[in-house]
Amino acid sequence: MTSHNDQWLARSRAAVWHPCTQMKRHETLPIVPIARADGIWLEDFDGKRYIDAVSSWWVNLFGHNHPRIKQAIKDQLDTLEHVILAGFTQQPVVELSEKLAAASGLGHAFYGSDGASATEIALKMSFHYWRNHGQGSKQRFVSLENSYHGETAGALAVTDVPLFSQTYAPLLQQNFRVPSPDARLAADGESAESYALRAADALAALLAAKHDQIAALIIEPLVQGAAGMAMYHPVYLQRARALCDRYQIHLIADEIAVGFGRTGSLFAYQQAGITPDFLCLSKGITGGYLPLSCVLTTDSVYQAFYDDDVTRGFLHSHSYTGNALACRAALEVLAIFDDENVLARNRATAECFSRILAPVAAHPAVRHFRHQGMIWAFDVDSPRSDFAVAFFQAMLARGCLVRPIGKTVYFMPPYIIEEAQMLQLQQATLAVLAQLAGHAAAENGPETALP
Ligand SMILES: *Cc1c(COP(=O)(O)O)cnc(C)c1O
Repeated sequence: MTSHNDQWLARSRAAVWHPCTQMKRHETLPIVPIARADGIWLEDFDGKRYIDAVSSWWVNLFGHNHPRIKQAIKDQLDTLEHVILAGFTQQPVVELSEKLAAASGLGHAFYGSDGASATEIALKMSFHYWRNHGQGSKQRFVSLENSYHGETAGALAVTDVPLFSQTYAPLLQQNFRVPSPDARLAADGESAESYALRAADALAALLAAKHDQIAALIIEPLVQGAAGMAMYHPVYLQRARALCDRYQIHLIADEIAVGFGRTGSLFAYQQAGITPDFLCLSKGITGGYLPLSCVLTTDSVYQAFYDDDVTRGFLHSHSYTGNALACRAALEVLAIFDDENVLARNRATAECFSRILAPVAAHPAVRHFRHQGMIWAFDVDSPRSDFAVAFFQAMLARGCLVRPIGKTVYFMPPYIIEEAQMLQLQQATLAVLAQLAGHAAAENGPETALP
């Protein structure tokens, strides 16, 4: 008799085109059907439970089935689910915009639905700002090597993940790429800080030469997520801010992954003591409940669009812009940050998990063990071309959802993770490392990424 799991995975394979996936891989790699979730736990249709150590693709902050966020959405549902935001407004979107402005110092909030739409909005606004300013030659963008800013055509043109972008290269705008300040690239004996300064020199050289063509630098502050949790010294952000000021270039902080406490501060750029011209937010903004994204910007950018001429305005929209349910969930997330002193609590949680992970950091196959706020990552010295898939499956069998990026293993758990769950992750990781590190894969195919 087939289990409930098997029925759902067969029906999903037949009818659902899963994201970021070569579907044929699922002939051998099973899809995991999730029936329900609570706190850090996901549960399949056969009752097996998994620790959601990737926060459901980096969106979940306070666990699943959270009583406060759930209640806030239910309350909003009884009042107003959605209304057109062009020419109309509502309470949740106004309150959320005010609160985000107060938290970021950026006074105007423009809404989208997904992270990639926030990237598109920031790129278009930056270009349009310079055009309104009589500097229409500023049309191109700068991003870091191994950057990730989303997968719509504009966002993909500032994303440097060849697996995602190469196929579509003929469709994408030609932009500039500068070396990543990723501390792993430091030379022997070179500090993360001096390597970041060296990377900033390359940025300085590009901006000096091409600033009249460049509208904006877009950057993931402190941690390049999809690059494999590449962490870098905040001095890079300080240099980038100064260079952007000097050459009249916007600084776009893409905090879609790192915002809302993930790196230890509410926003990651705050650790560098700078303010960006644009701030892109999504993922954690609703605690992982509903799709919502937001671009915050300065009064001076806003003013450059404020005119009698319609075409000087920002004529961009998405149907669900400023959705009331999503904004209400986001307001509850911000209230939880205040009421529960989340940033301070996370510092204690992070200290505990770092201590528990010390044996992983010391494992002979582990390289570049690193940590920032509520993100932990390390690279594994393994000759296996199927490392990511093999590690994922072996962890899944031990009740842990962990999805390596190439040979980088990372934990990005919901902030409510408890000590027993940290221990389960540590023990499973050590067992799987013993099983996988140092053994060649049976077949020697090309590097296989996870779907
Ligand atoms: C996930 C992500 C995006 C894209 O967000 P989507 O909601 O997946 O479109 C953009 N930038 C960064 C840094 C991300 O991590």
